[in-house]
Amino acid sequence: MSSSGGPEPVRDVVRARDLDARLSAVRTRISLAAAAAGRPEPRLIVVTKYFPASDVRILAELGVTDVGENRDQEAAAKAAELNDLALTWHFIGQLQTNKAKSVVRYAHSVHSVDRTPLITALGKALANEQDRRAGAGLGLRGDLECYLQFALDAGAQPDHRGGALPQAAEELAEAVVATEGLRLAGVMAVAPLGARPADAFQQLMRISAAVLSVEPSATAVSAGMSGDLEEAVSAGATHLRIGSDVLGPRPAVG
Ligand SMILES: *Cc1c(COP(=O)(O)O)cnc(C)c1O
Repeated sequence: MSSSGGPEPVRDVVRARDLDARLSAVRTRISLAAAAAGRPEPRLIVVTKYFPASDVRILAELGVTDVGENRDQEAAAKAAELNDLALTWHFIGQLQTNKAKSVVRYAHSVHSVDRTPLITALGKALANEQDRRAGAGLGLRGDLECYLQFALDAGAQPDHRGGALPQAAEELAEAVVATEGLRLAGVMAVAPLGARPADAFQQLMRISAAVLSVEPSATAVSAGMSGDLEEAVSAGATHLRIGSDVLGPRPAVG
């Protein structure tokens, strides 16, 4: 693992053991939850935000194939630094339209598609990226996988962590389907504070059904974080986004 060929510093070995133990524990939880629910195991996306590229490299050696990031600058830098690895990058954070151009350079998917102007911006960015690649003699990239993010009911407290209103599901689904270069993968949500995760994920499954009525292939359900992965698996999540239970507590500064 040491690219210089010399011995690995002790702290890297310690970190690798730490990540290995945490990752194994999370994988066990996922297997147990899937078995208990009688469902196939969802795909694990390890959310590496705020952690260095060196951690992502260790995770790749431990068999992680999918990583999630929520800030474009940080994600772009890590993807560039790790471009020797065959990793699948998922963009999971709130996305400004002016960042679409950057995100389509490295991201396989965007889990936070929640409004029509963003869909338009991603479609345009994708087309420009294909032109850029063709002009540079590079192979074209695949379609951008889009997950529609929804804000779920949270009792009295409105949830401010992004996402469309559930009523907009069909309209947004149709907008993605109509945009060349985008593929509608499915739905995404974060269980809101103040709601039981099981209830929130049930609501997300109902929204998923509405999206499936527009695009029957959009079967993905991105739900479940460190604290609620069992509830998400039980409801029918196909993709889990797990950060702190694999990487440890996030550094205080973001
Ligand atoms: C940070 C983040 C996660 C991971 O959360 P953990 O509680 O650390 O597992 C999942 N989804 C989104 C959208 C995030 O921003």
